[in-house]
Amino acid sequence: MAEFARPGPTVSLEAARDQLLTALHRLTPRPTPLDQALGTVLATQVIASENIPSFANAAMDGYAVRAADIGEAPGSLRLVGRIAAGHPATTPLGPGQAMTITTGAPLPPGADSVCMVEHAVIDGDDLTLEAGVQVGQHVRHTGEDVTRGSLVFDAGTEIRPAHIGVLASLGVGEVTVYPRARVGVLSTGDELQSGSGELGDGKIRDSNRHALLALVSGAGCEPIDLGIVGDEEVDIQSALDGARSTCDAIITSGGVSVGVADHMKTVLGRLSGGSAHWMEVAIKPAKPFGFATIGSAGTPVLCVPGNPVSALVSFELLARGAVRFMMGHSVLDRPRWNATAAEPLRRRRDGKVHLVRVLAGVDAGTLVVRPIAGQGSHQLRSTALANALAVLPDGEGMDTGEVVSVILLEPDAVPDARSDQ
Ligand code: AMP
Ligand code: MG
Repeated sequence: MAEFARPGPTVSLEAARDQLLTALHRLTPRPTPLDQALGTVLATQVIASENIPSFANAAMDGYAVRAADIGEAPGSLRLVGRIAAGHPATTPLGPGQAMTITTGAPLPPGADSVCMVEHAVIDGDDLTLEAGVQVGQHVRHTGEDVTRGSLVFDAGTEIRPAHIGVLASLGVGEVTVYPRARVGVLSTGDELQSGSGELGDGKIRDSNRHALLALVSGAGCEPIDLGIVGDEEVDIQSALDGARSTCDAIITSGGVSVGVADHMKTVLGRLSGGSAHWMEVAIKPAKPFGFATIGSAGTPVLCVPGNPVSALVSFELLARGAVRFMMGHSVLDRPRWNATAAEPLRRRRDGKVHLVRVLAGVDAGTLVVRPIAGQGSHQLRSTALANALAVLPDGEGMDTGEVVSVILLEPDAVPDARSDQ
């Protein structure tokens, strides 16, 4: 009779994560078109080659004036022209003169201030100002937002939409960023079946590959579907060997616990020259975890458990930070928020941190969480109804009203949970 494999050493989540991070390298930065850079991380500083604004311009629709002509209001000036955005004045503004100006239009030479339309009365070419004018009022000065030669964004900055706007306004068309990691996802197990055809005897459908591919792209990576391999060492080995050249990292699911058919350990041990790490992370779900680097490029292979909920939790707590590290991020994990337990979150003491699937909502500005029914590590549908993981340290759990640390899995979609509804 075949023996069960021996479990790896038990380690804390933090220790597992530290071990994993030390085995990784950042990807090689490369120039990338600005419009493809959203969510990536700058690998070099951006220094301003231009001023923003590049010329003094009006911050309001109104009249370009010389403040000294007005001083204390009221005062009268002669309207001598009109300047619209994109159409600079062809003549300077002389003493006692004013020009109509629209927001964003360049201040004419000689003008130093803009007075608002609302504070002026026009009679033919005569302009009477009802309020005093201070030098520089309603003027956007040259270089006020960005000064030529200054540091715009430091290396390590994650590019958000506003960064793209700033870079575009500086005429930057390409940025040097860490590339999106090409992450291959491989399912392992003789029982797995792909597609929607009739299920074979004893077969189950492969859900992990699809969920992990979605998680990978949600983390900003380029997902690569590596399909399914059965529980045969030779098949696992050739799948990993084949994926090495096209993937920056590989995530496998299944075959990492102590079952007889867990060949992943043998194969990765061989491919990594005996340097694979196997561990029992002191969390529930998602206890077994392993990783190794293979090939001359040191491609990381991250092995998450087969149980669908465990695969998801393992990705969230370990793999997601790993691929973010490779893509140059310094913030690797989702933030943990304090929430109030709206119902008891019970657990038993077992030496592990429990990740309880909860529904988080906002009640009068406070984050509240309720456990969802069905916490088994095979109950993926229940997990799909949750939007957060409550992090319960070892112990008896939380009573209603106690504060619990939570990881929001869908930070953009935390529903209203007002108790008075
Ligand atoms: P394993 O980690 O290979 O021992 O698998 C643990 C459990 O997860 C078993 O019930 C497997 O059938 C199931 N499982 C493994 N891989 C997948 C997958 N890709 N999709 C859905 N369930 C899976
Ligand atoms: Mg298996």
